[in-house]
Amino acid sequence: MTYAEHKAAAVDAGHCTYPGCMEPPGETDLCTKHQADAKKRKARSYARNKAKRKAGKLCMRCGRKRKPGSRWCVACLISYGRMIFRDRDKQRDKDARIEGDGYARERFRGQGKRGPQPKHQLDDQDLEAAVKELQRARAALQYAASEEVQALPRAQRQEAVAKAVALAIYGIRLAAQVPGRHDVQIPDLSVVDED
Ligand SMILES: [Zn+2]
Ligand SMILES: [Zn+2]
Repeated sequence: MTYAEHKAAAVDAGHCTYPGCMEPPGETDLCTKHQADAKKRKARSYARNKAKRKAGKLCMRCGRKRKPGSRWCVACLISYGRMIFRDRDKQRDKDARIEGDGYARERFRGQGKRGPQPKHQLDDQDLEAAVKELQRARAALQYAASEEVQALPRAQRQEAVAKAVALAIYGIRLAAQVPGRHDVQIPDLSVVDED
């Protein structure tokens, strides 16, 4: 049995997903004791990481080399936008939390209970989110080309561009929801028509 299968079986059987534990689940899939253990473990590893990054003067988010004058690396500055997206709406970000596969789905809260949303509303949300991501990508690429970033070592410059491009792809993926919703196939975008 894989871990995922074990976990699903434990959930179905109505007990804690910790291997061998028969206690009923608490607030999560784990029982109260195993949930507390997991929390403690997480807090310890978080504290260890934090101390290590602080001592080594590494990015506090990911452990890469810091951008001079910052506690973060250039890639994290772009992805998490402290510097270039100062004006972003924090609540909106929370609502659009990226799902496991890195794919954000923006949905009006509480809409689920009132049945499926009409297509035009979903299209509007996807395109609004896509435009915002593409604007972030544009700002990120401009930032990556700025003197400030250009003064950094090559590896960090490349990371900055890669992160900015990732934002663009993310915007494209959001927009790509629209044709699918209308049973329109996305043409092969790798073929650029130069005429
Ligand atoms: Zn347990
Ligand atoms: Zn970082």
